[in-house]
Amino acid sequence: MENRKVLKSGEFLVNEIQANDMFIPEQFDEEQKMIAQTIRDFLETELYPNIDQIDSPDINLMKATLKKAGELGLMGISIPEEYGGFGQSFVTQMLAAEIIGAGHSFSVAFMAHTGIGTLPIMYYGNEEQRQRYVTRLAAGDLIGAYCLTEPGAGSDANSGKTSAILSEDGKHYILNGQKMWITNAGFADTQVVFAKIDRDRVLSAFIVEKDFPGVVINPDEHKMGIKGSSTAQIFYNDVKVPVENLLGNRGEGFRIALSILHMGRIKLGANVLGASKKAITDSVKYANERKQFNVLISTFGSIKHKLAEQVIKTYALESAIYRLSKDIDDQIELNKASGLDKGKASVEGISHYAVEAAILKAYGSEILDYVIDEAVQIHGGMGYSAEMAVERGYRDSRINRIFEGTNEINRLLVVDTAMKRAMKGDFDLFGKATELAENLATCYIPAVEDESYFEEKLRVIKNFKNLILIVIQGASAHFDKKLLQEQEVLNNLADMIMEVYIAESLVLRVQKMENMNGSDPAGLYRAMVDVFVYDAADKIRKPATDAIYSFATSDLQLNYKNVIETLTGTAGVNVKDARRKVADKLIEDNCYKF
Ligand SMILES: Cc1cc2nc3c(=O)[nH]c(=O)nc-3n(C[C@H](O)[C@H](O)[C@H](O)COP(=O)(O)OP(=O)(O)OC[C@H]3O[C@@H](n4cnc5c(N)ncnc54)[C@H](O)[C@@H]3O)c2cc1C
Repeated sequence: MENRKVLKSGEFLVNEIQANDMFIPEQFDEEQKMIAQTIRDFLETELYPNIDQIDSPDINLMKATLKKAGELGLMGISIPEEYGGFGQSFVTQMLAAEIIGAGHSFSVAFMAHTGIGTLPIMYYGNEEQRQRYVTRLAAGDLIGAYCLTEPGAGSDANSGKTSAILSEDGKHYILNGQKMWITNAGFADTQVVFAKIDRDRVLSAFIVEKDFPGVVINPDEHKMGIKGSSTAQIFYNDVKVPVENLLGNRGEGFRIALSILHMGRIKLGANVLGASKKAITDSVKYANERKQFNVLISTFGSIKHKLAEQVIKTYALESAIYRLSKDIDDQIELNKASGLDKGKASVEGISHYAVEAAILKAYGSEILDYVIDEAVQIHGGMGYSAEMAVERGYRDSRINRIFEGTNEINRLLVVDTAMKRAMKGDFDLFGKATELAENLATCYIPAVEDESYFEEKLRVIKNFKNLILIVIQGASAHFDKKLLQEQEVLNNLADMIMEVYIAESLVLRVQKMENMNGSDPAGLYRAMVDVFVYDAADKIRKPATDAIYSFATSDLQLNYKNVIETLTGTAGVNVKDARRKVADKLIEDNCYKF
């Protein structure tokens, strides 16, 4: 583990790292690039030629394609070698998830299998369970599913009614209940099923095989998108589950479910990054072919604006994704050094970064929705044709804001988890917030003499952070314990926090690139920084203002308003020229290559 400063989850709100402390995608090694290329080749040869047929839907073809991915070793990337995998780092797992993310419904099936379908057993299973199931899941000999959601238990996942009663001879749990929206249900061999034992208040987890008598799988749902992925209800009618198939301890199910969801959220961030890059490439290729008014549409300022925004948002998201991935790798190493076994070290390392996981999930899925929506627009009428990849991408994108915890739930988690971690003593949020709020007149950090380009951007971001702390302090003081019921204010805070994390990651990445490679001769990456930070000020100003007006008494409103204006002040930027610079590079490359 290299010697670098690593922050705890949520700590970025009050503390900073240096650019050189951050991992950036420009540091991928040859092995990582080779794995990425193998997956790209797989998508090109095995998936894209068959995607219409898979989405028809043809779940047998989907299953066969998953098996081929297994034969290539792609299902063992996250699994330690002793269980038949390749034990790759979290950064590599995320890179693989990014590339797979361009795989439409296949991506959903693959991620459900390798992630939520396999990793609960890897992370929480005993040795016998790992040898029996994980080795075969990692090879693709078995396909996995994860069964948490029920008709009455969606976001409120712990409220499920599926029950497990110990049989009189003590050899089985008798499972009864119903799960719904289960990805891979139509062909999965193993299911991780969450149910309550006897009258427990909390869930336990079980490994259920599809052929256990009493497991009944409904026909697939008809969905808006990701049509090739199998999604169905599963019924459990007096299913006898051997007691050896209890996963973890009795009552540990909710913890398992949540930890796996943290992991799923982070990886979803990587998936949507890959899907965004594909949509950008599809967009620019079309814009470079389509002529109107006798010229290519890529020459129009309106189209350049769209292309540039697609790139800038995607590039910023990518910066945050790999920053977090490396932080997780380091946390996993620390956990191993403290004596945890590989599975536990990984899951604890991932769960530690719950704040950032929720950010990547919610922010990332909304970026993909933005990017793919503009991709359709760039295609004009053709964007509405089922012949074009962007039409499929548009439909497939929408689910990302719903599963792995809806974006509403993830926004709440961003704020709630950060505040809980601060209360636990991981970092001093409330002390700093109180100090700032008591000295509103001096909370603005002014420019220093001879401030460098990056010093200026990071100072602006620090001022954004000060504003977040002031709003947290004001809202906490006003609502006290009821703040958690004021979801609109929590959403305002989440929007500000997400924007700051992504903006800071972008600035630090570009600074580190310049430290590594010398200055950015075309000013291309600085152009992205300029636009993103300038826009971030607006995106932070609005929720800050909304939040303040929801609690500040009229005598304080003007004070607060002035503070918001000051703390969101940024230097003027010629965003038109900056965006054109980014768009022109994309247009020249005719694909996403940043
Ligand atoms: C295609 C697909 C695949 C899926 N795959 C799986 C799978 O493999 N395994 C699995 O277990 N599940 C799976 N799911 C289920 C998915 O995780 C849930 O749909 C999701 O968690 C939301 O639950 P729900 O549908 O019951 O919505 P609800 O919880 O009913 O939510 C409805 C609305 O209310 C909002 N809401 C709910 N609670 C709150 C709150 N406390 N505060 C503010 N707003 C709130 C939500 O954000 C949403 O906007 C899948 C779903 C789909 C559609």
